[in-house]
Amino acid sequence: MAARSNEIGEFMNRTGRRRWLESIGAFFVAGRLPTTSITSPPSELESAGKPLQLADFQPRSMLHVPETKVPRPRYPVIDIHTHLSVTARSDNGVGIGEAMKYFAPVEALLPLMDRKNIRVMVNLTGGAGKGLEEAIRKFQQPYPERFVTFTEPWWERTNQPGYSQFQADEIVRAHEAGARGLKILKTLGLYLREGISKGPLVKIDDRRFDAMWETCGALGMPVAIHVSDPEAFFLPIDRFNERFEELNNHPDWSFYGRDFPSNAELLEARNRVLARHPKTQFIVLHVGNNAENLPYVGECMDRFPNMHVELGARIGELGRQPRMARKFFERYQDRILFGTDAVPHGTDTPQQVFDDELYEIYYRFLETEDEYFDYAPAPVPPQGRWRIYGLGLPDGILKKVYYENAAQLLKVI
Ligand SMILES: [Zn+2]
Repeated sequence: MAARSNEIGEFMNRTGRRRWLESIGAFFVAGRLPTTSITSPPSELESAGKPLQLADFQPRSMLHVPETKVPRPRYPVIDIHTHLSVTARSDNGVGIGEAMKYFAPVEALLPLMDRKNIRVMVNLTGGAGKGLEEAIRKFQQPYPERFVTFTEPWWERTNQPGYSQFQADEIVRAHEAGARGLKILKTLGLYLREGISKGPLVKIDDRRFDAMWETCGALGMPVAIHVSDPEAFFLPIDRFNERFEELNNHPDWSFYGRDFPSNAELLEARNRVLARHPKTQFIVLHVGNNAENLPYVGECMDRFPNMHVELGARIGELGRQPRMARKFFERYQDRILFGTDAVPHGTDTPQQVFDDELYEIYYRFLETEDEYFDYAPAPVPPQGRWRIYGLGLPDGILKKVYYENAAQLLKVI
C-alpha cells in the first residue's frame, strides 16, 4: 500500500506527471496513446494536474497511530446538553406558542444511554407553560433518575407590558412543575426583535430579563445560555473562511453584516448579565461560546465565579489545540460540564446525531492521547477540515467533568 501510494503521489504533482509522460514518449503517435501497446492509465492519473472540487476532496490519513476504541466512559455521565423536544412553531428564529415537537420516544433513548453509561440526559429545550408540562410528562416523570428538563422564556410576550414580572412568575411555575433550569437559545441577541420577529434586535443584557435571571438564582435553577456562535460565522463566507463548507451548506447560520452585532459585542453583553447576577449560576454552552479563544474564556471564568462551561459540539475546536485545552481543563476542572448538543433526529449535523459513535468520539477525546482523529462521524469534517487530538485527562478531572460538576449544579447527587 505504501509503495503504491508513493507512486501515485509522484504522479499527483505536475512535474512527476510530465516526467512520466516523457518516459513513455516513444509510444506517442500523433499526440495520443496507442491503446494496444500500453495498459490504460490509472484513474488517479486522469485527475492529476486538473482542478478538483473541494466537496470531492476526501483525503485519508496515512498516519500509523494508535486508535483506541472507548465504548464506555470510565465514569458515569450526565449529558447536560441535549434536545429531545423543541417548540413546534417559530417565527424568524423565535419560538412561538406552547405546542412542542418531540424527536424520540423515551423508550428509544434508554438502551443507548445504558450502553454508553449515560446516567442522566438533560433536555434543555423543554418549552414553557403547557408545553413544558408535557415535555416533563414524557421524559422526566416516567424516569426521574434518568431525565432532567429545563424551561424556556416566553419570547413572544417580551414586548408586552408587565413581561418582566410575568416571566419571573413563570419561572416559579416552571420550577413547581419540575423544571430544573432555564435554557436560553441564541434567539436572545441574534433573532428576538422588539416586534418579536421584526424591528431592532433585543439586547442580551436588556433590563426586562433581570427579574428572570434573579428568580433562577433564588430557586437554584442554573441558566444554560447560548449566545453568539463561532467567530467564523461573523465573517464573510469566502475562501478565507475556515468554516466555508459548513456556512456554504447552511448560509442561514451566517451572522455577517446586516444589523447583527459583532461576536465581541454579544459576548460582552452576556458578561454584563453574569456580573449583574452573581448569585445565578450560568452554564455558558459550547465552551463559553468562544472555544476558538480559550484565553478569553479563561479570563471570563476568572472574572465570574458563577460561570460554568460545557463542551457540546466544540470538541472540534478543543481537539485541534490539545495543549491549550488540556491546561484549560486543569485550571477550570470544577466548572466544566460534559455535554454533546445531541439530537435524536436527522443527519444534517453529524456532530450532533444521538448515536453510539458520537459518544465514543467524546470519550476518546477526553480519555485517550490518540492523535489526529475525526471529531464527528462524517466523510468530511463538518465544522472545518481538520482533525483532533485526545486530551488524556486524569481520573480526578474525568470524574468531575463527566458527572460531579453537573450533579452539583442540578442537585442530583
Ligand atoms: Zn444545543
